[in-house]
Amino acid sequence: TDEGHLIKGALDMHDKTVGEVMTKAEDVFMLSIDAKLDRELLKTMLKKGHSRIPVYVNEPGNVVALLLVKQLLLTNPDEGRTIRSILTKKKKSHKKKFASPLYVSMSARLEEVLDEFQQGRSHLAIVYDDVSKPEGERKFMGIVTLEDIIEEILQEEIVDE
Ligand code: ADP
Repeated sequence: TDEGHLIKGALDMHDKTVGEVMTKAEDVFMLSIDAKLDRELLKTMLKKGHSRIPVYVNEPGNVVALLLVKQLLLTNPDEGRTIRSILTKKKKSHKKKFASPLYVSMSARLEEVLDEFQQGRSHLAIVYDDVSKPEGERKFMGIVTLEDIIEEILQEEIVDE
């Protein structure tokens, strides 16, 4: 029954880990913070259709921010702005800073991540092999979103809009 599925899914959340439900690194659409938001890149983003894009500095394993595609609504592709300039809010202190994404370990339980998502900062987390390792040593493994977890509870795929 549907109820049976739901209950089983909810109970399984205890044991399931992020590693089992994440979208793997090689399948993640991500961009360099220095990428130029020209027409071609905007088209690619449109084609991919994701609402959030992990942004890295220097190498793809080094995710520092999430770009929300809706932040680009008023971007003029002819201005050739970089992602960095979109993410960066000028502070009074002249120091520029952007919000860092949520980082979780592969071994984290779905329950824990759901708790984090409920706090409302973001519904997408960046997955590393082990977030307790020093930054330079940890390996980027993928991403997990609220949808990935809900699919586990429902025990079926949610067809994307
Ligand atoms: P969206 O609707 O923006 O794609 P969802 O949170 O609904 O985001 O996730 C739908 C699926 O797409 C999930 O499996 C999620 O892991 C995956 N996903 C989300 N963002 C990306 C991305 N930038 N690159 C690759 N896969 C993604």
